[in-house]
Amino acid sequence: MWRKRVLVTGGCGFLGSHLCERLLGSGSEVLCVDNFYTGTKDNVIQLLDHPHFEVMRHDVTFPLYVEVDEIYNLACPASPIHYQRDPVQTTKTAVHGAINTLGLAKRVKAKILLASTSEVYGDPEVHPQTEDYRGRVNTIGPRACYDEGKRCAETLFFDYYRQHNLRIRVARIFNTYGPRMHPDDGRVVSNFIMQALRGEPITVFGDGSQTRSFCYVDDLVDGMLGLMAAGDDFTGPVNLGNPVEFTIGELAEKVVAMTGSKSEIIFEPLPEDDPMQRQPDISLARRELGWEPKVPLEEGLVKTVAYFRDLISAA
Ligand code: NAD
Ligand code: UDP
Ligand code: UDP
Repeated sequence: MWRKRVLVTGGCGFLGSHLCERLLGSGSEVLCVDNFYTGTKDNVIQLLDHPHFEVMRHDVTFPLYVEVDEIYNLACPASPIHYQRDPVQTTKTAVHGAINTLGLAKRVKAKILLASTSEVYGDPEVHPQTEDYRGRVNTIGPRACYDEGKRCAETLFFDYYRQHNLRIRVARIFNTYGPRMHPDDGRVVSNFIMQALRGEPITVFGDGSQTRSFCYVDDLVDGMLGLMAAGDDFTGPVNLGNPVEFTIGELAEKVVAMTGSKSEIIFEPLPEDDPMQRQPDISLARRELGWEPKVPLEEGLVKTVAYFRDLISAA
């Protein structure tokens, strides 16, 4: 039987591990490439015995010669504390990683998808964000290594598309959460849940009035698979995320209520360049991919809390 050979870079990370699992479930052969910067083998431990799964330690800033039919380029630290720890490496990963995976896609004529981000919109003045909005990114701020890295990766994808006729897909992913988020990566959902479960203060940055829209990981993976499967004339960029918007203060209260935690909510300074609001307009994904998220925040949080509870009790 012919199996599609799929490369997932960053496959040992949060999103990548769920994607690998789903691809194997649909009969593909999966090559998972990761340098373990933020991801770990534990995220794919349940897949290691699968006969069509392979993990390779590799840094995407270096060339990679393999034979595959599809490429999902996810390699890149995604949380602010991780991508700001070594900002030069973050830009290299986004940009050189894009060049190398695009070069690979060109040589083997593979379809290639970029995990881009809502951060390309920066701190937006257009709300909700549509794909034609060009964004407001501070080029010299602490988030720029990531934001500009991803913006340049998008540019490279479209130049390889125009110059070399590559079959590209660009997904602009909005805040996604779920099991296998890194417990200490500082992202808001994992932070609040870990703080609540440990009985530590819940750290709301700013006054908690800034907003985010949270997508459960299963919905997001559906969106990425749908985008890869779409016709080659649909390149994106396309927003993938959940359009239901919450303030960070509301999220803190929800997590405290759901976990029955005694943690108090405290307020800390808002980090520099922290976007005040973020909500995807997903009309394009609805129309072109027939995709929209199905899992409400409460339901996704229940599964995520269960994951972090297990993680704490296993430690
Ligand atoms: P993650 O940090 O859990 O996963 C990233 C993975 O990439 C990790 O396994 C890490 O070790 C690996 N990696 C980092 N640098 C690498 C390199 N140079 N070579 C090889 N592997 C490398 O983050 P995630 O949330 O799973 O994000 C995956 C992708 O989705 C990222 O590209 C991120 O920018 C994008 N994204 C995620 C979100 C979100 O809310 N989770 C939102 C927007 C975009
Ligand atoms: N590349 C790779 N794997 C391949 C083919 C290319 O990693 O199978 C890398 C290669 O190192 C190159 C980059 O992708 O630096 C871009 O390749 P491309 O063919 O577009 O450009 P060129 O080789 O002409 O610089
Ligand atoms: N945030 C917070 N407390 C935390 C971690 C994050 O209030 O412990 C806020 C952060 O300032 C931002 C929002 O939650 O306004 C989302 O942060 P995250 O790092 O998860 O994602 P991003 O800012 O990249 O959307």
